[in-house]
Amino acid sequence: MTTIVFPLSRRPDKAARIALIACGDRPGKTSACESCSEKAEGLLRIACTEALEAVAAAVCSELHNGACAECTTKATRILAVAGEPA
Ligand SMILES: [Zn+2]
Ligand SMILES: [Zn+2]
Repeated sequence: MTTIVFPLSRRPDKAARIALIACGDRPGKTSACESCSEKAEGLLRIACTEALEAVAAAVCSELHNGACAECTTKATRILAVAGEPA
């Protein structure tokens, strides 16, 4: 499991972190692309319902066959972020 380290003085809000997860975070990457940033608010809303499959489907572009394993993993992390105390 990779740990994303953000400077504590400038901790991005949940939506920004969710955007980064959805976009596919990797070491050195600190911000999501525009389309993932736009999706993040909606993902956060879905994540608040704790519906893993719904979040995974929203992240994944391969909707025809259900969310792929990668997006299901992302969704699990998004749920964890959404469930954190603000
Ligand atoms: Zn993206
Ligand atoms: Zn996918």
